[in-house]
Amino acid sequence: MLESLVVCAPAFAVWTTHIELEQKNTKKILDLVDLLSEADLISSDRLFNNFIASRSSASGSWNMSASVFSICYVALALRFVLRSKEFESAGLTIEHLFDKLLGKEIDNFVLYHMRRTSVYQLVHSLLFSGYLLGLSYFQQVPILELTSIWWTAFVAFSFTLPLCIVVFSFLTWNYMDGVGHPLTTTLQKFAAANQSWQDVARLINNECMGLDTVRIQAGPLSTVVVTQNWLIELCRYSVNVVRQDSIELVVNRADAYQRTGERIADGEVIVQFINVEVCPLRPIVKPFAFRINSIDFLELQNSVHCRVTVLEGARFRKTTTERFLDVFIDTVNKNPPYEIPRNTASEIEKCIGCLQVQADVKLVKCCTQSEQCVNCMCRPLWCIECMGKWFASRQDQEAPETWLSSTCTCPICRSVFCILDVCRLKIGN
Ligand SMILES: [Zn+2]
Ligand SMILES: [Zn+2]
Ligand SMILES: [Zn+2]
Repeated sequence: MLESLVVCAPAFAVWTTHIELEQKNTKKILDLVDLLSEADLISSDRLFNNFIASRSSASGSWNMSASVFSICYVALALRFVLRSKEFESAGLTIEHLFDKLLGKEIDNFVLYHMRRTSVYQLVHSLLFSGYLLGLSYFQQVPILELTSIWWTAFVAFSFTLPLCIVVFSFLTWNYMDGVGHPLTTTLQKFAAANQSWQDVARLINNECMGLDTVRIQAGPLSTVVVTQNWLIELCRYSVNVVRQDSIELVVNRADAYQRTGERIADGEVIVQFINVEVCPLRPIVKPFAFRINSIDFLELQNSVHCRVTVLEGARFRKTTTERFLDVFIDTVNKNPPYEIPRNTASEIEKCIGCLQVQADVKLVKCCTQSEQCVNCMCRPLWCIECMGKWFASRQDQEAPETWLSSTCTCPICRSVFCILDVCRLKIGN
């Protein structure tokens, strides 16, 4: 809610005031907007010169330079709020700027994030009043001349919002021992009869220090933390905490996007995000949802103890390797099997690739066309999946269409084989 306000309110106020006071400069401003969106805002000398030049012509009411100031302010504020790479690399993030006040996350996870969310709320809410004071100080715009209802509402909102946050988040919280803070209210729900929210916080703090804690980036602005018993979503203005025994996870949507200008390791240019809904099993838990990259889904699935349901509509797009593996297994199943005597079957060991299943393939030269292929003398050491993955990993990642007709070398003795030379083991009589 606050996020969309931060983004929309100044832009809206600037827009309405601008329409009312100065329509003739619209074209010039649109040109500047183009310039802003095309160029790197911070390093653009041209824009900076324009900005400086416009400041010198300030004249006590809304004018061209006030519009330029507004656009620059909104653009910079957006980049700050959305944590653009430039701001992050310059250290202009809340975590970095207020690190002394926030303390260390590892020392007290819950307290750190209570402070962090409060500071986020306060600093972002101050961007509105900062804009108005900037207009007044640099552009001499009489911001308290409340001529339109929208402007009045914006001015009132800008100055009361930080005040409300200070009163609520800081004073109430400090004097009432955290009671009333959204996070302590949530923690209290998970406390046993003789426990306080501090006891629950202590449990979470201890678990967060564990080596088995998993952190998964959920979009650019939130992180999911999975500990032994808890699942925590860290957003900018809030923290969602649930005990894993009181929820189930439901994957209800998977969206694939084409990523331009970047190719990931296995030749895919598709990136897939999945929507994970946290569904409560007990009425005290508030449902919420987060989106993660499908690559991280397996990690999430392996690290939580609660039930994970993938709804039928949410189809996971297979990677090139996974799709190749399907074809590889199909093809190998059609090759003649390699027969081993029944009395030696017990000597077959676990696959040395995954150590999970018994080795079930042997490389035997069966093909007739390829002159490169030679017979491999190694005993069966691999399962079909590991052999398929090995085969795929040795191919030209940029040209998956050539994989099936290419050759590979035995992982142990380096003798060349093709897909027709991979034989399933068959126990003879
Ligand atoms: Zn294996
Ligand atoms: Zn070999
Ligand atoms: Zn061959």
